[in-house]
Amino acid sequence: MTNFKVISTSTVPIVFDREGFVKLGVDLIEKPSHTEDEVISLAHDADAAITMDEPFTKRVITNLKSCQLIFTAKAGYDNIDVAAATEAGICVANASGYSSDEVSDHVMALLLTFARRIIGLNKMVREGKWQIFHGPEMQKMWKGTSRIRWKILGLIGFGSIARVLTSKASGLGLRVLAYDPYVPPDDMKKMGVEPVGLGQLLRQSDFVSLHVPLTPQTQHMLGLEQFKLMKPTAYLINTSRGKVVDEEALYIALTRGYITGAGLDVLETEPARMDNPLLKLDSVLFTGHSAHYSDQVWTEMSRRPAEEVGRIMSGEWPIGWINPQVEAKFIKRWRKSKAIA
Ligand code: NAD
Repeated sequence: MTNFKVISTSTVPIVFDREGFVKLGVDLIEKPSHTEDEVISLAHDADAAITMDEPFTKRVITNLKSCQLIFTAKAGYDNIDVAAATEAGICVANASGYSSDEVSDHVMALLLTFARRIIGLNKMVREGKWQIFHGPEMQKMWKGTSRIRWKILGLIGFGSIARVLTSKASGLGLRVLAYDPYVPPDDMKKMGVEPVGLGQLLRQSDFVSLHVPLTPQTQHMLGLEQFKLMKPTAYLINTSRGKVVDEEALYIALTRGYITGAGLDVLETEPARMDNPLLKLDSVLFTGHSAHYSDQVWTEMSRRPAEEVGRIMSGEWPIGWINPQVEAKFIKRWRKSKAIA
């Protein structure tokens, strides 16, 4: 065994690729850690830390004496204070793209469920109603129903999930617009996607799908002002993070008819509080933060930690590197004489 110490604070059971760690000569120490103090107690002398949702706050990070890598075994990294890690010279990485196929499938499932009125039709059949296209109840349900070919899907954030989603949506004939100030417009155009500003995306889209990380800049990026720009027939789909949407404003937008419906995999408070007023609205579909789930995802989650720890140990940068701006500080702190690839 090397004296490189790797810990996992994960409070959800991850079946780690043990063989991968054995090959690295690393002993992995696992201890579910819920609080800042518990994380500090486990991670203070670790060389690499693996996390899921545990708090890697500024206070925790300033107490990490030898940590070179904080790796989250999922895509979202809002439990890690990335700015504090960068300041401390610590690399932060995620399991980038580990569930892009699953999440993009999930978005398409929600989109098609809305477009084809699946929930209402299922309910009707159970009530003894069959193939009825007329009458007040039916008019309400079918109002605005349209084939999805040429409908517009607006993607907010054009990273891993949005790109996989683009090919699926384009295959069904949807036109795709995207807003992402950090992606060169040519990268979008190459995929047949029209780069637009946020306002234009909201005004034109029939379906708006969120694919940004939760950061101080994206928190509540959709509020009342933005919902008022959307088409009254439009649907919002959120598989990113609950706090990207101002839920109070969403409730107002849905009940006042600024938009027609919302598919929410994520909420501002999880698990859902049973007094969340959105739970009372038939126009909202909930899926309980499960968009990433599939049998295959566990394999990805299992192998990526050892791979990324291996990269750091052998002087390479991680594949899912989130804070490349740490480079100079990292080299100064950890690689004084050793060149990094
Ligand atoms: P990614 O890092 O590949 O892409 C995120 C994109 O958002 C990047 O292109 C970035 O430039 C863009 N972005 C950042 N700030 C922005 C802003 N202010 N405005 C517009 N664009 C901005 O991430 P991904 O793998 O596509 O995942 C996106 C998010 O989805 C994750 O951060 C995570 O929170 C969430 N997620 C949820 C589930 C689930 O089960 N519901 C699963 C995986 C990921």
